[in-house]
Amino acid sequence: MDVIMASLFDTRRYLTDFDSVRAGHVLTDVLVIGSGVAGARAAIEAARYGSVTLVTKGGFEDSCTHHAQGGIAAAMGEDDSSSAHFEDTMRVGCGLSSAQAVEYLVEDAPQRIEELIRWGMHVDRAEGKLQLGREGGHCVNRIVHARGDQTGRELSTTLMRRVYDTNDLRVFDRCFLIDFIDVEGRCAGVVTYHRQYGHQLIWAKQTVLASGGCGRVWRETTNPPVATGDGLAAAFRLGARLRDMEMMQFHPTTLYVAGAGRALISEAVRGEGGHLVDRGGNRFMQDYHTDSELAPRDVVSRAIQEHLLQTRSNCVFLDVRHIKGFQKRFPKITELCADFEIDVARDLIPVRPSAHYLIGGVVVERDGSSSVDGLLCCGEAASTGVHGANRLASNSLLEGLVYGKLAGETAGQRATGGGTNRGPLTRLVSENPVSPRTSLDLPDIHQSLRSVMWRNAGIVRQADRLRETCEILEFWAHFTLDKTLDSVAGWELQNLLTVAHVIARSALERGESVGVHWREDASEKQVGSPYHLVTVRDTRGSSPKRAGH
Ligand SMILES: Cc1cc2nc3c(=O)[nH]c(=O)nc-3n(C[C@H](O)[C@H](O)[C@H](O)COP(=O)(O)OP(=O)(O)OC[C@H]3O[C@@H](n4cnc5c(N)ncnc54)[C@H](O)[C@@H]3O)c2cc1C
Repeated sequence: MDVIMASLFDTRRYLTDFDSVRAGHVLTDVLVIGSGVAGARAAIEAARYGSVTLVTKGGFEDSCTHHAQGGIAAAMGEDDSSSAHFEDTMRVGCGLSSAQAVEYLVEDAPQRIEELIRWGMHVDRAEGKLQLGREGGHCVNRIVHARGDQTGRELSTTLMRRVYDTNDLRVFDRCFLIDFIDVEGRCAGVVTYHRQYGHQLIWAKQTVLASGGCGRVWRETTNPPVATGDGLAAAFRLGARLRDMEMMQFHPTTLYVAGAGRALISEAVRGEGGHLVDRGGNRFMQDYHTDSELAPRDVVSRAIQEHLLQTRSNCVFLDVRHIKGFQKRFPKITELCADFEIDVARDLIPVRPSAHYLIGGVVVERDGSSSVDGLLCCGEAASTGVHGANRLASNSLLEGLVYGKLAGETAGQRATGGGTNRGPLTRLVSENPVSPRTSLDLPDIHQSLRSVMWRNAGIVRQADRLRETCEILEFWAHFTLDKTLDSVAGWELQNLLTVAHVIARSALERGESVGVHWREDASEKQVGSPYHLVTVRDTRGSSPKRAGH
């Protein structure tokens, strides 16, 4: 069962003014947006069938993928099996995971890891065998990692090498997706902005969205600056369905040093025996869950939040002083702490939770197809049904590999199997209304948006505050989304506003607690049978209605 919610949030169809007669044009069989694990893997696969263009808004390595620490989950240990990986993923998903999607994920996992190794990725080994790490929710050691805590960097470098070695695969970096273009209800490509080339229309027979998540909606986040939800907002403007957008996973342990960026301290640190203590030096997790520090992430995040309130503190601490060989196993975290004069062998590491991983996203079928013809989606931007209401640690890089490959294959086959490319023969004009001239303080709205989302739509939620948040966002949108802005910062802000509103509305609509979505004004248990909450852009009416799946 899906609950369909039509959003009345008033967005223009296009954020920018363009006329195809005056813009530059690029033609390709398959267009991929994003150079993280999902986009890179999709592009490599699609290039087996035809020409591919990959567009990414920063450098190739500007992605969440590059920052991943813990590793990639795959049942490759002697004491492990795909069915055990399946069971763990389904249990953590709280009844909302799709069994078919999870089955495919866990069974394909070992092949995708072996493929990476063939492509030259270094993975950590002990006595010749894969060295597998442990993270919360996994019943065995199952996490493949690289150079200690630098799995993301190693993965993205391996994929980048492969991308640049692939024939007929062109990369446009520093090229910003503004909007999808559609012709007769079909996605026909995108309008982009490039600092050097200005506005361009990239016409594609098939477009694969792999633009990642939207952690920058919240003030506290592990996500890098690129994670502003642009692809999600653009897909929403195009008319694609977004699902379970209230499901944001908060990571319990982010380095908390006032004024510094919020860098993640991997869950693998607790997997290796790291303790959470308060400022009095007391371990407290056993008061909240029998699995203590290895309880699911949402439980640990809420416990920290609660403990901070009780002890009137700003942060708790990770104690890793007793872990032998910590510096070798976690060189990046050791270096990061040293930058702030924290010696992990002697000092406690100050941490608190922050927004980490978007479980919801563009609704897709197993092959990556979205609800809009010509548009596919994979990775964190997609909702495949794998993660249900809570993501099992280290399943997201895996999802990017497995479903990125599938989406690339589908797009490549469709594009070269007789699909048409409308190309510049179709005249397309944005037809935006004239933009009012009110001047805006973009950074101020940006900071205020992130603060209100952290305060009111964060780890613990309640109806009144969510209702208030929707009203605030609608007010800001009223004088921000009515304008045609001409900078990346402006478009990012408009996208953040759009995505934040969908998140707050969905969080308000789902009146019960399930998985990562915690409503303190509701009973703990989910009411009735599990359902997905789908948001569609509709300017005609906003009352939610139930529809068969
Ligand atoms: C600090 C950190 C640690 C993590 N550790 C792990 C881990 O150990 N294991 C695990 O499984 N998961 C981990 N995750 C989650 C995981 O990294 C992500 O879910 C995954 O990398 C998402 O991959 P992706 O390809 O979908 O998106 P991303 O890797 O985020 O890539 C998105 C791409 O889209 C581009 N893009 C975005 N907007 C636009 C636009 N407007 N125009 C053009 N391009 C655009 C971005 O520049 C980027 O290249 C971690 C996440 C973080 C932040």
